[in-house]
Amino acid sequence: MSRFTFGDVTIDRVVEIPRSAYPTASMLPESTPEAIARHHAWLKPDFYDASTGDLGSRIQTWVVRMPGRTILIDTGVGNGKTRHESPLWNDRRGTWLDDLAAAGVKPEQVDTVVLTHLHVDHVGWNTRLEGGRWVPTFPNARYVMHGEEWEFWKWETESGREPSGCIADSVLPVVEAGRVALVGPEHAIAPGLAFEPTPGHTPGHVAVRLTTPAGQAVFSGDLMHRTVQVAEPRWNSRFCHDGVRARKTREAFVERHADSGVLVLPAHFPRPGYVVRENGGFRFRAV
Ligand SMILES: [Zn+2]
Repeated sequence: MSRFTFGDVTIDRVVEIPRSAYPTASMLPESTPEAIARHHAWLKPDFYDASTGDLGSRIQTWVVRMPGRTILIDTGVGNGKTRHESPLWNDRRGTWLDDLAAAGVKPEQVDTVVLTHLHVDHVGWNTRLEGGRWVPTFPNARYVMHGEEWEFWKWETESGREPSGCIADSVLPVVEAGRVALVGPEHAIAPGLAFEPTPGHTPGHVAVRLTTPAGQAVFSGDLMHRTVQVAEPRWNSRFCHDGVRARKTREAFVERHADSGVLVLPAHFPRPGYVVRENGGFRFRAV
């Protein structure tokens, strides 16, 4: 368990799956093995997985605690969900809830679940199966999402274009339970914690920025999937909805955060860290 502290705010993470369902070459269609290998010197060992011979990846949840508040950012794949796209995701029997408890968080204690976007690997633990029905995992939480993101996926689902089924089993049940707050792209979640629009990967994708007297951190969701994208911000992921917009968002993000001292916590990087300038380009340095 790695913890980051900003004054009276703590950040912990709970890893659900310690590797990706997709090799980097497949995840980043514009990359080539040669171009990735040119970055191995700085990617190894922190962002590399020797067991797969590929760049490392995680599916994980960030736990943000501040006085009186327990906030989760993104909720992974979930247990017991039918997910044909990957055997790693299908009908899981994972220990995520126990791992969350080991981090000191019981479901009843969570007051806010924040979703950067509504993809299958970010909404799964919104719900769990109880008596044959999908019910909110966090009975006292408000589930906060960008209204534009919800509208997009609602429409895709109604039109039969949502491939995974995650809206039906992991988002709709919390909507129907009256637990959802649809908010704008700059919504203030808690003191010092706010959404920031970062569209492209999905239409309503948002980052979450923590601003404290002790420093800044930004949860960047899926605006980057693999650490190599810090150095190659033009490479989109195969799941980016609007590639032109995603690239623009990513390039601006990397430029803005270079040498800024802001802790960057992407949804899927093996470790959080800092964007730095090096050799005329950008690198990521593990915290
Ligand atoms: Zn993702």
